[in-house]
Amino acid sequence: MSAEQFIRSDVQASAAYPVADARGFIKLDAMENPFGFPAHLRTQLTEALNQVALNRYPRPAYEELKFKLRQTYSIAASSKIIVGNGSDELIDIISKAVAKDGASILAPEPGFVMYRGSAMQARVNYVAVPLNPVDFSLDMAAMRAAIEQHQPAVVYLAYPNNPTGNCFSNQDIEEILSIAPGLVVLDEAYQPFAIDTWMQRLEQYPNMIVMRTVSKWGLAGIRLGYMAGAASWMDQFEKLRPPYNVNVLTESVALFCLNHESAFTEQTEVLRGEREKMFNALSEMAQTRPGMHPFASSANFVLTRFPDSAATFAKLKADRILVKSVSAMHPSLHNCLRLTVGSPAENTALLASLANV
Ligand code: PMP
Repeated sequence: MSAEQFIRSDVQASAAYPVADARGFIKLDAMENPFGFPAHLRTQLTEALNQVALNRYPRPAYEELKFKLRQTYSIAASSKIIVGNGSDELIDIISKAVAKDGASILAPEPGFVMYRGSAMQARVNYVAVPLNPVDFSLDMAAMRAAIEQHQPAVVYLAYPNNPTGNCFSNQDIEEILSIAPGLVVLDEAYQPFAIDTWMQRLEQYPNMIVMRTVSKWGLAGIRLGYMAGAASWMDQFEKLRPPYNVNVLTESVALFCLNHESAFTEQTEVLRGEREKMFNALSEMAQTRPGMHPFASSANFVLTRFPDSAATFAKLKADRILVKSVSAMHPSLHNCLRLTVGSPAENTALLASLANV
């Protein structure tokens, strides 16, 4: 008897999610908030965590956490909320729920890799529709055709999109909401860095769900995602949420941080300013470097094309700076690196290293 006899062949042929070892590096590869937990809140957080009943399972409905999320982000009373162990888990729940024979999940690409990975794991057909390669806007002719042909159960639109950083146009999203036969998920993982949100339009679109995470806001380590939408969808998804999926420590830290929201909003404001500085510095560099091009971003990273991304990646690595190479991810990302916006000192180090490539 061997594991190979029993494990699905598509699982055997797949690879585990790769995560680079970042020890000793300036870490600009995963869109984390570079600032540690706000120093003035540490003692209070410790006190809050001391109150947590570690011997008990979480209260399964997460009412307090959901109430706080609803209040903080003005989520309409008519929308239901589901919490997840990161939004990755919510994506998995959606894939499982729609995995009927012949069902499809559709997303524009380049996009977030988990939409494809999760669909594959749930054995749902995955349809990738290429974005316009020049500005990464939605190719609406291609989207219309693919939606018509595949009648997808779910369309994912990351807003802003990862790894391109742009927000798709409202007009295009509205059209997709009107022509999609099933659910449209607006994935607002990078919402803290963007101006706009679809959260306040949930009542208008009963086939839309807005998904978010606290990961980019400053709490990637606690793993908490949430989504809001109409009961007709959410009541079904809730059945697939593993009981107690959000642990008591995560719940307690999240509640504490939502009660001190401004400390995190201040950090994201600094990062938005840093993003503009980084974009401007990269744009200036690009003027004298044919083949270099930073793409304007509404998220906490700047996708940048380099004349030779492998050489640039290697130079940064030699300078102990880790970024993400997305060059092989999609043809339209050829020679592109995704640069997470870090602290002012980290960004200065990044730009100094790039200046010497
Ligand atoms: N959606 C998008 C668009 C993302 O880029 C990411 C993280 N890279 C996620 C969702 C997953 O976030 P979480 O950390 O909550 O699982």
